[in-house]
Parts: sequence; C-alpha cells; structure tokens
Amino acid sequence: MSHPGLEAVRRRIREAALAAGRDPAGISLIAVSKTFAAADIEPVISAGQRVFGENRVQEAKAKWPDLKRKKPDLELHLIGPLQSNKAGDAVALFDAIHTIDRTKIAEAIAAEIARQGRKPQLFIQINTGLEPQKSGIGPDAADSFIAHCRDRAGLAIAGLMCIPPLDEAPRRHFELLRQIASRNLLSALSMGMSSDFEEAISCGATHVRVGSAIFGDRTDR
Ligand SMILES: *Cc1c(COP(=O)(O)O)cnc(C)c1O
Repeated sequence: MSHPGLEAVRRRIREAALAAGRDPAGISLIAVSKTFAAADIEPVISAGQRVFGENRVQEAKAKWPDLKRKKPDLELHLIGPLQSNKAGDAVALFDAIHTIDRTKIAEAIAAEIARQGRKPQLFIQINTGLEPQKSGIGPDAADSFIAHCRDRAGLAIAGLMCIPPLDEAPRRHFELLRQIASRNLLSALSMGMSSDFEEAISCGATHVRVGSAIFGDRTDR
C-alpha cells in the first residue's frame, strides 16, 4: 500500500541527496507523528515507513507500545524536550533520544541505560540561534558539554540536533551544527523539517524530522 505524503517526501529526499552528491541511503527519514492518532499512523507503517518521531513522552507512551507490538521492527525517536523524571520512560520506550541538553538529563539517561540495559542512540540538542524559549545547549558551551556527556556520564553520543529559529534562513544554523559535530568527531546530524529538509540534506543532515509534509497540517489540532 502506498501513502502519497510519504512517497512525495521520500522522492524529495532522494532528489536532494543526489543533487548534493550524497547517497540517499545515508539519510534517515523520521516521520514525526506527534498529535496524530494510531489510525493516521498505521497507513504510513503499511507503506513501509519504520522510523517515527514524537515530541512528548506521555503521548508516545499512550500510542506506541501497541503499534510496536504489532510491528517489532519500528524505531521510535524522542525529538522533544525531556525532563529528568521521565528519563526512565524515555529510555524504555525510545530507540533514539535527540534532546540531551543539560548535565542533569545526561546523568539521568546514563543511570537508566545502566539500569535497563537498553542503549538508545543519543543526540545532543544545540540551540544554534540562542533562543531563550528553546531547549538546547548554546554553541559556545557545546564542546565542553559533549566532552562531559562522553567522559563523565559515559554516554555514547551519536550526533547533534538543532531546530533553527522560525524567522531566519536555516542554512547558517545547519552549517554551524555541522561544524560543531565535525570538530567533535560526531557523524550524525539531526536537522531539517518539512519546510527545510532539502536544504538540511545539502548541509549534511543524516536524520531529517518530517511531520506535516507526510501527515498533513497540525494547525487544526
Ligand atoms: C514537530 C517537529 C518536527 C516536524 O515538524 P514539521 O514542520 O511538521 O515537519 C521536527 N522536529 C521537531 C523537534 C518537532 O517538534
């Protein structure tokens, strides 16, 4: 069964990758299903998509255990802010966490990984635009925070994630994220959403987080 929104996004990812001289297989599409019900998600699963993103632990806990039981090879990514008292739930449910941004969270996740024996893929969120309302570590503190996560908390960090400011051209932010990752020898870059994933791919994104271009608008929700 095909899903028009999903097919269109896959085609655009492929074209953007080829235009950038990159192998499309090096880009993982995270279908962001926040606010959408299982009935909206199932057709996307049937069309072959296996990687999904949610921004709230509670919402994911209500929707995903059932879906995962039906399709054990689903991969679930946490792309929204994490409170340390939810670290246990997050490590239990998610296969990747994109939003580590302070030492308390890093330590809570490290403790849960040790306790549960699960190893989600881990990303550090960088607040590239230094926006006060946004989570993420500031670019100037990134190197020392990455070192802290690795050396003190003992976390295997896969890469970095950012959400550029809404009112700015995203390219400068994508490039900054890539620079920080590169000098810290991190290979995964979680960047690009419905409005800018092609540009993110041209800047080296390995994980694009795409919601509305697949599922439709969330404005009525
Ligand atoms: C909602 C969300 C997305 C997807 O946004 P779209 O514009 O619908 O593609 C990506 N990343 C994060 C962190 C989000 O919260």
